[in-house]
Amino acid sequence: MAGILEGKVALITGAGSGIGRATSRIFAREGAKLVLADVVEEGVVQTHAMIGDTGGVSIFLKADVSKPGDVESAVAKAVEKYGRIDCAFNNAGIEGQSGLTHECTEENWNRVIAINLTGVWLCMKAEIAQMLKQGGGGAIVNTSSGAGLIGVSGMPAYVAAKHGVAGLTRAAAIEYGRHNIRVNAVCPGPIRTPMMERLLGNRPEAEQRFARGGPLKRLGEAEEIGEAVAWLCSDHASYVTGLPMPVDGGFLAQ
Ligand code: NAD
Repeated sequence: MAGILEGKVALITGAGSGIGRATSRIFAREGAKLVLADVVEEGVVQTHAMIGDTGGVSIFLKADVSKPGDVESAVAKAVEKYGRIDCAFNNAGIEGQSGLTHECTEENWNRVIAINLTGVWLCMKAEIAQMLKQGGGGAIVNTSSGAGLIGVSGMPAYVAAKHGVAGLTRAAAIEYGRHNIRVNAVCPGPIRTPMMERLLGNRPEAEQRFARGGPLKRLGEAEEIGEAVAWLCSDHASYVTGLPMPVDGGFLAQ
């Protein structure tokens, strides 16, 4: 049976770890041809190898989403190798340093905004320009967060950036709907990834407290985000655009 992304060309950023890696593997399973991008080359090489082992098709490059030239190279590489770009998952992100608003340094603020917000805008800018050049049509999913829909204490730059991603997603959906380019965001709850491990530290009680806080009483897995992103990028979601979609085990329902 054909996959839901059969033949589609997809660019995924932050593909070397966590949610990006799991989503890349699901996209490959569903028949997409991939360009995997990450600032850490080692991670993206591993994801590429995993996809190859299961018969999937991918190429990879080292790219920093906060650098316009790197982002343009990623889109150019997709076009050079596959001739077009149909989907994108703009997912690369960092947690930044923890601390209250008055404690946040300018350096931390600028870095988190540059990667988590400006990086998403730069990706969309290059991807949409290419999609328009092809004559329109396409599906973009940005990674926002539960922290892009409600306030969370101790990470002001992260919360601001993720709210920005939700807003940017809605604005772009309105701008490009007439070209049949759909733009959505996924808003993960607490997901078991290297980022979450760094945030929890070596404290099992912190994880349990987190897990107990949501209706499903557990953390999510990266694959549970990947399945939602694959659906949003597929033609099965053809009337869905402008949606920052929580995939959070019901945290935001409370
Ligand atoms: P992760 O740290 O496991 O993976 C993030 C990946 O992004 C890494 O491979 C990293 O090298 C890459 N990256 C970082 N800066 C980059 C840059 N400048 N250019 C290109 N790549 C870069 O984290 P994750 O949990 O998989 O997070 C993925 C996304 O999901 C992030 O945007 C994060 O904010 C978001 N998110 C995660 C959770 C969670 O609970 N894990 C919850 C909500 C949102």
